[in-house]
Amino acid sequence: MKVETLIIGAGAAGMMCAAHAGPGALIVDHAKAPGEKIRISGGGRCNFTNLHTSPANFISQNRHFCKSALGRYTQWDFIDLVEQHGIPWHEKTLGQLFCDTTARDIITMLQAEMDKAGAQLWLQTDVGEISHDGSNFRVMFSRDGRATTVTARNLVVASGGKSIPKMGATGLGYQIAQQFGLPVITPRPGLVPLTFSDDRFKPLAGVATSARVTANGTSFDEAILFTHRGLSGPAVLQASSYWHEGETISVNLSPKMNLLGTLQRQRQADGRKALTTVLGQHLPTRLVDHLGDELDLQGNIADQSDLRLQTLCDALENWTLTPGGSEGYRTAEVTLGGVDTDALSSKTMGAKSVRGLYFIGECVDVTGWLGGYNFQWAWSSGWAAGREIAKS
Ligand SMILES: Cc1cc2nc3c(=O)[nH]c(=O)nc-3n(C[C@H](O)[C@H](O)[C@H](O)COP(=O)(O)OP(=O)(O)OC[C@H]3O[C@@H](n4cnc5c(N)ncnc54)[C@H](O)[C@@H]3O)c2cc1C
Repeated sequence: MKVETLIIGAGAAGMMCAAHAGPGALIVDHAKAPGEKIRISGGGRCNFTNLHTSPANFISQNRHFCKSALGRYTQWDFIDLVEQHGIPWHEKTLGQLFCDTTARDIITMLQAEMDKAGAQLWLQTDVGEISHDGSNFRVMFSRDGRATTVTARNLVVASGGKSIPKMGATGLGYQIAQQFGLPVITPRPGLVPLTFSDDRFKPLAGVATSARVTANGTSFDEAILFTHRGLSGPAVLQASSYWHEGETISVNLSPKMNLLGTLQRQRQADGRKALTTVLGQHLPTRLVDHLGDELDLQGNIADQSDLRLQTLCDALENWTLTPGGSEGYRTAEVTLGGVDTDALSSKTMGAKSVRGLYFIGECVDVTGWLGGYNFQWAWSSGWAAGREIAKS
């Protein structure tokens, strides 16, 4: 079988590309249904973009690479598309846009756009050998127990990252890049809970509080959540993408309040209250109890000298922790690293060294923050490649 464009991966980026690549696109996936990650995203409501999307919200060895695609197909373009399809949506927090009803609305919308463009979708199809004869790609597939070979002028790799292997994530995109001599920045889990080698947080499992978490100089002010194995919650997930094995993170448990000034005022007004009781007005009680031994929280607030309060605030505002690891690809929302952007055109997502070969979405070394940025990258990069293919 011969097609103009073959897209591997019917996820967010692949479907977007198929909708814009012009007639004759074939999109294949080994899953039973397209857009499985869209379906489970955002707690089933898909955080499909972010109002504040800008290149600053992405991690890459080349932080300029994402500018072109994000600038040519923006969050406003995607919102227009969602509105054209009459999908109800709302802003939850921090510019994060979610479907009112279900993430399936986004999948249905993308399928309708693919149908309009005349794209063909093959599901439950396994990818075999891939070759290139200088002008066409030949890809072997196994479908319904039968071997099929497809010849295509353009090959778009949209097979995502390694996160959540249970949902069909594989490292196929990296293998294809390496086969064609494109370098790959070592993939690692991102937006992932951090773990500790001991059980220190086990008694705190389920406790949540607001905090500022800093890793490698980048800070996030959001909630943190203690888990049986360590730390999670949006601020920790965000920081995890900047953290590397062996490094520390710093947690400020009072990011929005002048804690020292507040405690000094309470010492005047409520001197007979226990220090733990006063701290419990600002932090979850279970957390204060837990910190009690470590920080020696004895006595009434009136008994605490300025120096003592200052030392206590320093400890609470710069709680330095060394995670032992992360929960890994099993729960990571994204995969950092991927196809080295130096090998790709930022305008078209095409490989500089192999005509007709494109990489889009999460398999590229561009990773967004938590909050709808990763889908926006999938839409923007998918659109850029699709548009280029349609033009050529
Ligand atoms: C639980 C969870 C929730 C998330 N929530 C959000 C959110 O709300 N907002 C947001 O912006 N981002 C979210 N993300 C991240 C987002 O889902 C991804 O960044 C995005 O899906 C990447 O799009 P993609 O098309 O590159 O890859 P994917 O959507 O992963 O698509 C890749 C496709 O390739 C197929 N594939 C893989 N290997 C093969 C192979 N060997 N052969 C054939 N097919 C293959 C897969 O089956 C899949 O359909 C979430 C991720 C997870 C895991």
